[in-house]
Amino acid sequence: MRLRNIKGARDAIAESPLVVHEPEKKKGKWKEVFGNDYPIRIEIGMGKGKFLHELAGRNPQINYIGIEKYSSVLLRALQKMEDEPLSNLMFIRMDAEEIGEVFDKEEVDRIYLNFSDPWPKDRHAKRRLPSKEFLLRYNQFLKRDGILEFKTDNKELFDFAVEEVPLAGWEIDKITYDLHHDAEMVQGNVMTEYEERFSSMGNPIYKYIIKR
Ligand code: SAM
Repeated sequence: MRLRNIKGARDAIAESPLVVHEPEKKKGKWKEVFGNDYPIRIEIGMGKGKFLHELAGRNPQINYIGIEKYSSVLLRALQKMEDEPLSNLMFIRMDAEEIGEVFDKEEVDRIYLNFSDPWPKDRHAKRRLPSKEFLLRYNQFLKRDGILEFKTDNKELFDFAVEEVPLAGWEIDKITYDLHHDAEMVQGNVMTEYEERFSSMGNPIYKYIIKR
């Protein structure tokens, strides 16, 4: 039965071969999961998966993993894969707070954060995906020469993220406060769902690329 006819997102996800269940058991074994040696790149807080699906279609020799907390949202990414299957894209349904349990040292080549939830209250700052607490988690499994790319239209979140970078021992490689009018950084840009929505409203898109 086609996924769009299934009502329960949780059941559909539990049965899907595209979703890696008990991902902590794959720690250090992700190359085996894909069956090849291609680099592994992940998006944390993937949403409906448009960005990763397009990237994976463009780059068949890179493996992608989309991480999303909510089944109902992840289901949309699975439906997209049903319409246009790709062998280099898989998914994990989990809260990224546990991400250190899932990937081993040097296992990931690049991390994408796109339009991460802002968690505007100060007391929730640690939940923001570009916070220093999360950067320290990413440190554990991102390759030494790996990079993290972050895009958002939320100025407060972006300013916060920029301040967190040195606090976690990272450094900014490239930064723009208007991605779509930055001739260099916009090259090869793949729009996310939120990016399409907010840039069509006239919002500038902020982006940094950071490294250690
Ligand atoms: N990246 C997509 C885009 O740019 O269109 C979706 C952006 S949406 C604002 C943020 C997504 O991140 C939501 O789908 C949310 O469920 C997910 N998310 C937020 N915190 C998360 C966490 N700790 N672990 C996994 N996913 C998370």
